[in-house]
Amino acid sequence: MANGARMCTRSAFVAGSAAVLAAPVAASARTGDPKELEIAFPRMRRIADRLWLGRLSRHVWVHTTTHDLGHGDDYPANGAIVVHGSSATLVDTGWSDTDANAIVDAWAALRMPPIATAIATHFHTDRVGGIDALAKRGIPTFGNPLTIGLALDNGHPAPRPLHDVEKHPHTVGGIEVFYPGAGHTIDNVVAWIPSDAVLFGGCLVKATTAPDLGNLGDAVIGAYPQTVRNVMRRYAAARHVIPGHGTIAGDALGHTLAMAHAALPAHA
Ligand SMILES: [Zn+2]
Ligand SMILES: [Zn+2]
Repeated sequence: MANGARMCTRSAFVAGSAAVLAAPVAASARTGDPKELEIAFPRMRRIADRLWLGRLSRHVWVHTTTHDLGHGDDYPANGAIVVHGSSATLVDTGWSDTDANAIVDAWAALRMPPIATAIATHFHTDRVGGIDALAKRGIPTFGNPLTIGLALDNGHPAPRPLHDVEKHPHTVGGIEVFYPGAGHTIDNVVAWIPSDAVLFGGCLVKATTAPDLGNLGDAVIGAYPQTVRNVMRRYAAARHVIPGHGTIAGDALGHTLAMAHAALPAHA
């Protein structure tokens, strides 16, 4: 992709290494199998080589899509679909138009309430990559106004603005969109589903299996710990926390906070 650096993934992963390249491919490997991190939870149903879908709670489904970052390294990213009444809201689009179309088609095949609206949680490809495909199907995507310029500057499609979301949360399709401050990126928002006490943390929040904070190329390290604390304080009641990449398990917020602290300069 043209803007390969503008993703949430580990730079070392993109760079590859002799050890990785020399590793034998397991006989059971299938195109699209996630590498390094996992799909969101094991009982998700594999819809296609690069798409998994599973129900997490009463109103919340999770999608995982994998994307080849080069070297055959298929990296997984999580999003969500939230059902309220007769319609559904998509949280994050997958990496591409292909992913977004696959998600919407799979959802329709399950005879679920149609996806009426989408939310993008920051400007990187794994969040906004499918906005154009959604628009063609009549599904508008909304996001932080800050996301618009950042996406366009990086050659990505941009969402429509949730005006002043940096000052007060917005509710979209029964989902609270909250801007906790800068961290993974300056524009990252989280999505809270109060009906199910589920927090979609996006790429601000790291899976407990993630070894580091991932791509920090657009991060605001000095603000990261306080931003995570803002999320922890507001959503202390969360029963599930969905990270942007990898498994839903354990104390993802606590793990992220510890890594954010460790990333601070020694004098901070
Ligand atoms: Zn990102
Ligand atoms: Zn990401």
